[in-house]
Amino acid sequence: MAPTPKSIKLAAGGNTLAVEWADGHVSRYPYQYLRSRCPCATCAGNARLPNAPVPGALPIFGVKPLAPARAELVGRYAVQIFWNDGHASGIYSFDYLRGLCPCDECAARTGK
Ligand SMILES: [Zn+2]
Ligand SMILES: [Zn+2]
Repeated sequence: MAPTPKSIKLAAGGNTLAVEWADGHVSRYPYQYLRSRCPCATCAGNARLPNAPVPGALPIFGVKPLAPARAELVGRYAVQIFWNDGHASGIYSFDYLRGLCPCDECAARTGK
């Protein structure tokens, strides 16, 4: 059975997006984590995004922090996330999104 979100909270606090799934599981994704796993052709083809901060670099002040501006459901299988940096071609299928869940429980289950 494909995972289905019951609700999607763009601003769940602490720079995370939270998805509550129909099976009761709640996934919390840090914005940067989600953005760097954007499944669109442009991002998937680039090892590193032009706007991506260098790992370990200090945050640059004056630059608007990354956040999802809005999200729209795409049919019954995916959600499209519109980032505040103007990038919006990432369509995250629910399957993909659930697979990205960074919680310990899911990490243990997928063996990653
Ligand atoms: Zn992308
Ligand atoms: Zn999980």
